[in-house]
Amino acid sequence: MADERFDVVVVGAGPAGAAAALVAARGGLKVALIERGEYPGAKNTFGGVLYRKQIEQLIPEFWKTAPLERTIVEQRLWLLARESTVSVSFRDDRFINPPNCWTGQRSKFDQWFAAQAEAAGGVPIYETGVTDVVVEDGKVVGVITDREDGELRANVVIIADGVNSLLGKRLQAHREWQPDQVSLAVKEVIALPKEKIQDRFNLDKNEGCTIELVGETMGMAGLGFLYTNTDTLSLGVGVMVSDLKRLKVKPYEVLNGLKQHPMVRRLIDGGEVKEYAGHLIPEGGFTAMPPLAGDGWMICGDAAQMVNAVHREGTNLAVESGRLAGEAAIQAHFAEDYTSASLQEYATAVRKSIIHKDLKKYKGLHGLLSFPDSDKLFGQLPQAVNDALFDFLSVDGAPKRDKQKLAFRKLEKVAGGRMDLVRMALKGWRAMNG
Ligand SMILES: Cc1cc2nc3c(=O)[nH]c(=O)nc-3n(C[C@H](O)[C@H](O)[C@H](O)COP(=O)(O)OP(=O)(O)OC[C@H]3O[C@@H](n4cnc5c(N)ncnc54)[C@H](O)[C@@H]3O)c2cc1C
Repeated sequence: MADERFDVVVVGAGPAGAAAALVAARGGLKVALIERGEYPGAKNTFGGVLYRKQIEQLIPEFWKTAPLERTIVEQRLWLLARESTVSVSFRDDRFINPPNCWTGQRSKFDQWFAAQAEAAGGVPIYETGVTDVVVEDGKVVGVITDREDGELRANVVIIADGVNSLLGKRLQAHREWQPDQVSLAVKEVIALPKEKIQDRFNLDKNEGCTIELVGETMGMAGLGFLYTNTDTLSLGVGVMVSDLKRLKVKPYEVLNGLKQHPMVRRLIDGGEVKEYAGHLIPEGGFTAMPPLAGDGWMICGDAAQMVNAVHREGTNLAVESGRLAGEAAIQAHFAEDYTSASLQEYATAVRKSIIHKDLKKYKGLHGLLSFPDSDKLFGQLPQAVNDALFDFLSVDGAPKRDKQKLAFRKLEKVAGGRMDLVRMALKGWRAMNG
């Protein structure tokens, strides 16, 4: 292995790494794709919704061959209180053709996606962990792997090693993420017959539905999710690590609580748990993005905090950043210039892309997630909205004007007063609008 030299070494065969390797290999570069798992996707987990747009740019009509589950036609948002739910949902058959997004399983999808990079000429080096970068005269010139004699030389190293990014830390692109920059998510895959899923979620054969769950996270900042796969459901919850530490709660306790919620319980009833997994999600957003390139290296996807939590978009930002890094590697190769100045083309391309624009729009979200009193936003407020609606919709002889006043009073009480309610709403608005 030591004698072999590559134009590009990509570390990590998730969506970011596979996209980068695919693009660079198609551009005629000699590319190695290194993955510590037994196969791509073996160690990965996500909700998981996969979006069309960014993958289609690389592989037109990929959905005809890629291993996908259901085409999402309906998206629901549930505001949970202990016994009740406020529900908002949107369904549109225009989401079918062309599809907007699908549910998928990472163990299948990542293998398929990395195989496209292999087919383009990328050299797969799996079951191999990268332990360090080789730096000479201040430039990254390769990586060290856990294989015997496992040094690999390359002109460019593309770091796509996910949220824990050992190499990002090694290059001091970023430090250890702080507990308020990551959430910890746990997820179960629950087997249920296809027909039951279709009946319970009001779906036709291959149609799918997603439900995001706000509230009932034991007062911690976070979200739950329940997604339909072909013959399984994915149920999970992610909460800020800072809140887990502060309250000394285990994430599976939150998940178990969600499973008991009357609305969730009915949907998963009779299902058999097939898988359980946990994973970190980057939540630092725009302000936590590290420098994206240096001498001989670029960093993509989760390793660079590229997750839009509001729209649960991580895979598509990973694919987009991988594509841009692959293109920058090709330019650097033909210019024979792998310096930081040359690779800044990648950072510039990210700045012009949806990654930068969307993360900038939601840059205030991090402040909301690390709100000192998350119980107010993620516990008391959903409960108060549910209680207010219960009162308002109960026909009990009380006039509607009185009910309306009572509903507002409930919300004001949670906020700490009328002005605080306005301040909270403003804070929420700013978080969503840069
Ligand atoms: C519970 C959960 C739900 C989510 N839901 C969604 C969703 O519905 N939709 C969505 O778009 N996104 C979702 N995300 C986010 C999404 O999963 C990530 O944003 C996306 O996977 C990032 O891709 P990546 O390629 O950057 O990193 P990863 O997918 O993490 O891939 C990194 C790869 O690098 C490998 N690796 C790590 N270190 C090394 C090393 N030292 N040497 C060799 N290989 C290494 C890993 O094994 C892995 O294969 C979710 C995440 C979680 C945890």
